[in-house]
Amino acid sequence: MFISCKKAGELASESHDRKLSVMEKLSFKIHLSMCKICKVFAKQYELVKEMTKIINKKIEDGEPIGPGLSEEASQKIKIKISSYKEE
Ligand SMILES: [Zn+2]
Repeated sequence: MFISCKKAGELASESHDRKLSVMEKLSFKIHLSMCKICKVFAKQYELVKEMTKIINKKIEDGEPIGPGLSEEASQKIKIKISSYKEE
């Protein structure tokens, strides 16, 4: 149940490529609840994922990845950052 920071980091990056098992997700969550460093890391990772999603959507919609992105992305980042502060 208890995993190392290294393992938590691995799970964070693997969650991007594959579905984690219930056990893995649980271990990861428990680790994040105890480890501030990994919590920050996981949030940054989420942010990167969010950015990737926005860029991918732009590409799918055939929209230019220009000023429009930075505006939308910075808006998303602002929301994310304010949600971090609430904790
Ligand atoms: Zn950790």
